[in-house]
Amino acid sequence: MKNFFITTPIYYINDIPHIGHTCTTVAADVVARFHRAKGENVFFLTGTDEHGQKVAETALKEGLEVKVYCDKISPRFEAAWKNLDISFDFFIRTTDERHKKVVGEILQKIYNNNDVYKAKYEGLYCVGCEKFLTETDLVDNKCPLHPPEKTVFKSEENWFFKLTKYIPEIIKLIENNESNYIFPEGKRSEILTKLKSGVKDVSISRENVEWGISTPWDAKQTVYVWIDALINYFSATQFVDGKKDFWPADLHLLGKEILWFHTVIWQAMLLSAKIELPKKTYTHSFYMIDGQKMSKSLGNVISPQQLIDLFGVEGTKYLIVRSFPSKNDSDVGINRFKEKYNADLANNLGNLVSRVAKLAEGQKTIDEEITFDIEFENLINNLDLDEAFGLIFNKWIDTSNLKLNQTTPWKLEKENPERIAVLDECIKNIRKAAFHLQILCPKVAKKIENCFKNEVKPLNESLFPRIK
Ligand SMILES: [Zn+2]
Repeated sequence: MKNFFITTPIYYINDIPHIGHTCTTVAADVVARFHRAKGENVFFLTGTDEHGQKVAETALKEGLEVKVYCDKISPRFEAAWKNLDISFDFFIRTTDERHKKVVGEILQKIYNNNDVYKAKYEGLYCVGCEKFLTETDLVDNKCPLHPPEKTVFKSEENWFFKLTKYIPEIIKLIENNESNYIFPEGKRSEILTKLKSGVKDVSISRENVEWGISTPWDAKQTVYVWIDALINYFSATQFVDGKKDFWPADLHLLGKEILWFHTVIWQAMLLSAKIELPKKTYTHSFYMIDGQKMSKSLGNVISPQQLIDLFGVEGTKYLIVRSFPSKNDSDVGINRFKEKYNADLANNLGNLVSRVAKLAEGQKTIDEEITFDIEFENLINNLDLDEAFGLIFNKWIDTSNLKLNQTTPWKLEKENPERIAVLDECIKNIRKAAFHLQILCPKVAKKIENCFKNEVKPLNESLFPRIK
């Protein structure tokens, strides 16, 4: 059986789960379920990133020991994904001793390979991003992603990783279509431009940040939280039972703010430690909320629970994939979500299924083997999730609604062959749609399948109740 290893970023626990985290996680869930449905052996990893100065500061503010704070917040992410019926196989926490051990081992390998040196670092640092800001990151000398007071001047002695040593090799890898791992194309060209415009070595340790993993050869420094976090993808395969063969990862899914770390620094670290590189990274864009950036200060942050309360678990997942910011930012809002939900799920899909189930009640059905549509499969593999699920509607749902309205089978006698033929065609289409929907809305897909298996039974509930 083929192995397939997919990851989401591990979410920084200084935050609460919002629609940004949700979109990466739902996308990963869809891809994981797709590969499982194809009979592959899937390992789907998600988790929380728990070290660094920002977490320590927040814990202090809340008057909690840092580990106690982490133990309080991390389960909120795990619970959020469980509430959304996300099919992750393991939830990793970077405070797990087994992860910490692997981080030490990788760092030691990089050190032994002569890729580490000590130097002074001075520059502007964003406590929000937990990173030193380069010229291209800065807008008016501040981090554009965080409040201005988060940008501070820092000067300290750190351990540096010889990132520059690996840049020619990374450029070669991504310039070659066979070995390129950066998707979509826009992100590959963005990285290539940045690589060619000059890169500096990066610091991989911190002085005065106690909340972290000690640098193996220097107990006075802790491993920079980003370096520690990236290693989670590999460490999980090393300590979770039976997962060693899953490395290298087939797909790292990420948001665009962490592109550089995942497509350059992570690869250079692995090259230095002589570990195989992940096969593919896919970087999506952001959500805008009603035309504005999502931010706590604007009070427009949408949480996954808010969506579940309104649209149910599977309705939420549908809305997320239909607005998935594959290549560009995607503008969403609660009202537009409501319209989309009512139009696609309550009306087009829900009404079709209940109408056909009622008209064809008692009609015998024949089981045909259904396989994934090749066009759908390509769209899923390219993470064009909006188009993939739009295709299901175009191909099978809208066409069936049209057919019904044109042929008006309800005007014919129940035994009329013309009526039976029209309904048969609709049933086939609905079952194909349900087969494809199993990777997004497994419960609804199952209900539809049950309704049309062997003999048509009436649907005694609304699949997606209309909402006001
Ligand atoms: Zn920042």
